[in-house]
Amino acid sequence: MAMSQPLIACHDCDLLHQVKALPPKCTARCTRCGALLYVHAPDTLDRTLAIAITGLVLMLLANIYPFLSLESQGTILETTLITGVIILSQQSPLGLAILVLLTSMLVPCMFLFALLYTLGSMKIGKSLPARKRLFRIALTLRPWSMTEVFLLGILVSVVKLSKLASIIPGTALFAFLALVFVLAAINTTLDPHVIWEKMDP
Ligand SMILES: [Zn+2]
Repeated sequence: MAMSQPLIACHDCDLLHQVKALPPKCTARCTRCGALLYVHAPDTLDRTLAIAITGLVLMLLANIYPFLSLESQGTILETTLITGVIILSQQSPLGLAILVLLTSMLVPCMFLFALLYTLGSMKIGKSLPARKRLFRIALTLRPWSMTEVFLLGILVSVVKLSKLASIIPGTALFAFLALVFVLAAINTTLDPHVIWEKMDP
């Protein structure tokens, strides 16, 4: 199957190698220049699943607790980031609000959910429908839920919205900050080759 034997190019000399599952604590190096290609991620299924669940809980906290406070007609309103994005869409170009919504919420949420669905079904030993397709979607979304992109989305919203409202240094903000670490952790624990191999009967 083409998916289980993908190719990887050396970052230093561009030599192509076939990706193989590694034994524990092993690293794969380029046969020509010795540069590091990839490393074995131990317990990739359990660890990634646990981190993905943590990420979804943080996402929930980040969205139910107030993120912004703004003054309107003499009263202080506290709102979530979603409401902030709606305010942003009224004050700024619509494209910016959509970009903020995608990078800071929708894509990380879809990424975490697709991981939970695929890895969770493997963990309980049930072949749920379309899990391969969802795992493929998760891998496609992976670069878009990278820490940098996520941080950029949050930063843009903070900078833009701070002109209209103030950011509450509370649960929602800390949950967003913790999500940065969660997304970074997934990138080190998730080893797609191991997952594909386990998924194929
Ligand atoms: Zn090389």
